[in-house]
Amino acid sequence: MRKRVYSGIRATGRLHLGNYLGAVKGMLALQDEYDCIFSVVDLHTITVPYDPKTLQQSVREIILDYLAAGLDPKKCLLEIQSRVPQHMELAYYLSTIYPVSRLEDLPTYKEKKAQYPKYVNMGLLYYPVLMAADVLLYKGELVPVGIDQEPHLEVMREIARKFNGVYGETFPEPTRFKTTGEYVPSLSGVGKMSKSVEGSYITLTDDLETIRKRLAAAPTDSGTEGGSVPETGNVANLFKLMKLFVDDSTYKKFAQDYQDKKIRYSDMKDVLADAIFQELTPLQEKRKEFSQNPKLVDEILESSNQECHERAQEVVNEVREKMGFSS
Ligand code: ADP
Repeated sequence: MRKRVYSGIRATGRLHLGNYLGAVKGMLALQDEYDCIFSVVDLHTITVPYDPKTLQQSVREIILDYLAAGLDPKKCLLEIQSRVPQHMELAYYLSTIYPVSRLEDLPTYKEKKAQYPKYVNMGLLYYPVLMAADVLLYKGELVPVGIDQEPHLEVMREIARKFNGVYGETFPEPTRFKTTGEYVPSLSGVGKMSKSVEGSYITLTDDLETIRKRLAAAPTDSGTEGGSVPETGNVANLFKLMKLFVDDSTYKKFAQDYQDKKIRYSDMKDVLADAIFQELTPLQEKRKEFSQNPKLVDEILESSNQECHERAQEVVNEVREKMGFSS
């Protein structure tokens, strides 16, 4: 049997380079060989402030981004999480075997608490349990996500182990599928590139002018520091992006300029903007085709949804039986 793969992205805004390099590239690498389900996890979206009126539009945008990036409905299933309510049912069952104290200790929970101090809800604490249920619902073994998700993967494995121990062998222990872009830094200098931090990202639908503008706003130093390229900070972040988008000799040229204290960041940003735009152009063209054909997108979602439902119900039935709920 082919290995099962599951991954999802929240519907909180347009996909950015971090999502693309950390998650979508992994999905693309796996869809040819494995049994893959890729989701828009809209139930996770509502744990932070959001607008119900635009939620479904945001979901649709991510689906279009997925298709534009090359996820192929002939090779993988595309899921909208809330349309497979078994996620919530399984999450509840799993929540009964996991300690609250472990969830309170997770860095992602602490970060969100700090970001939205007036919005600390049960759903936020429950997030990793629902995420475990997302993957385990399909007995997923490989999860293509960025490195920021590693603590959640650990929770997932703990839950799988615990469930197997208490109720009998049922779930695999999922591992993260890593990409070279597993951590794309923020353009604003602090933390990772993120949809929810303005000024931190470049989206997959940005045109060249917007990419240039966003890079122009990224902080640098005087350019006269010299020495080897720093490992952390604003300049390090720009060089990390360079490494992901330009060829080796271009990278080395700017690294040498940095060392020789004659780097011109505006030149480097121009080169970087062009390279990013070049990579995004085919995606943007493909996206246009799909957005002009909503019927086709609806059909893809409908047939995927049916298949997901069937698979999900099978696993939920197995869990219900093992937990003593079947008549
Ligand atoms: P965001 O934080 O931008 O809202 P999500 O939490 O929805 O993104 O994450 C979606 C996927 O994209 C996850 O697999 C996550 O690991 C990956 N991802 C998000 N930001 C980055 C980043 N800066 N670098 C690498 N991967 C990332």
